Amino acid sequence: MAKKKEPKNKKSVSNEEFNLYQVAMGQFEKAAALMKLNPVVHTILSQPKNEIIVNFPVKMDDGSFKLFKGYRIQHNNALGPYKGGIRFHPEVALDEVKALAAWMTWKCALVNIPFGGAKGGIKFRPWEHSQDEMMRITRRFTFALGNNIGPEFDIPAPDVGTNEQIMVWMMDTYISLRNASDAHASKHIVTGKSLSSGGSLGRKKATGQGVFYMIDQWAKDNKLDLSKSTFSVQGYGNVGSNAAMILSKTGAKLVAVQDHKGCIYNKDGINAVKLAEYVKNNGSVDGFSGAKKFGKNDFWKTKVDIIIPAALENQITPEVANMIDAKLIAEGANGPTSKEGEDILLKKGITVLPDILANSGGVIVSYFEWVQNKKSEHWDLEEVDFKLKKLILRAYEKTRDTVKEYKTDWRTGAYIVAIRRLEKIYLERGIFP
Ligand code: NAD
Repeated sequence: MAKKKEPKNKKSVSNEEFNLYQVAMGQFEKAAALMKLNPVVHTILSQPKNEIIVNFPVKMDDGSFKLFKGYRIQHNNALGPYKGGIRFHPEVALDEVKALAAWMTWKCALVNIPFGGAKGGIKFRPWEHSQDEMMRITRRFTFALGNNIGPEFDIPAPDVGTNEQIMVWMMDTYISLRNASDAHASKHIVTGKSLSSGGSLGRKKATGQGVFYMIDQWAKDNKLDLSKSTFSVQGYGNVGSNAAMILSKTGAKLVAVQDHKGCIYNKDGINAVKLAEYVKNNGSVDGFSGAKKFGKNDFWKTKVDIIIPAALENQITPEVANMIDAKLIAEGANGPTSKEGEDILLKKGITVLPDILANSGGVIVSYFEWVQNKKSEHWDLEEVDFKLKKLILRAYEKTRDTVKEYKTDWRTGAYIVAIRRLEKIYLERGIFP
């Protein structure tokens, strides 16, 4: 198998310059103070329950061995089994995974699905490895995690650098190590699988679909006519492209797109479906004939109604926030807005629909996949979309009410809804012994 050519998810900011866990904890502290969170529950939620680090050797195609470092952080399981993605990226680090795991806890609590929060990853450059090496790395990582994951205990899913194929290898490795009689009962060890291996219809587009439901409802509440609106998207991968294709169907005009290789612009509108096809074949938006090339700063300065950041964390820094002229930021990515960047946006009167709400469609449909596997059922797409819309809109409404009640921003409102659910459970159950 040929090795992939280039890093699709190369990060622009290193972990030395900025610490994602501090960002996540800053958000938590703001909400905790405003809602007067019980101090014992505050202490419990301020650290993950388990931090698992594994170092494991893998044989390369040339016969040599390489040692890999893998992480699985289990933040909280008060509401149900740990749930969260697996990231393959050279900048995977303990504090990054801890932040992403905490966000999963809040996200699942916010949308009221019976899961806790976790995240995992391996620190390496996936694009430098052949398909065979990727398979051995994935299988050896799954083996190293052993009983630290399980279909009723901790359920991984895809994230940056991983996909359906990786999930299917994880599932196969996990069930191969169990009794043959348990094999089919363990399919729900991972979600985000291919349809043929037990995945759910609608899972691939779920995050983008959820981003759309959030934008659509916010537009209705704020009398923004989507058919006459404009939007831009950063990152045209799974989340960005699906959100753009669905939002375009309303008549909203996609005018600017940025990815790891370049930025494109067309004031008359970019065809979102043709662009997705182009990216599939060329790996980037760069060179797309239906738009002209322009600069990174020009992308952020472009006046639009809606911006969808759907690439990486820490993209909307204070410098970028000062350039933005928009009404709404709907966070498709996890952690795209820095604390200082958000303060500037809020001062400018721009609403930020936070990641834990706006991109929760992915984990909601992962939950549907898990339920379908447990019941040996296959739901049709209409059923999946209907149920997704119901759950995500309920979380939106609850957040909207909380924002009004506490006179706060949407991120803090969403945190309060999530943390209240966890607080209630801890106070009911008490702390053992
Ligand atoms: P992806 O790998 O499919 O796409 C990532 C996109 O980001 C690509 O278009 C890439 O070109 C772009 N990008 C990378 N580096 C960039 C840079 N420096 N500047 C601009 N663009 C850059 O990933 P995805 O699954 O779409 O995930 C994107 C984000 O959404 C991540 O933060 C992820 O954690 C989050 N997320 C994904 C899901 C999901 O279901 N896939 C669910 C919730 C949250």
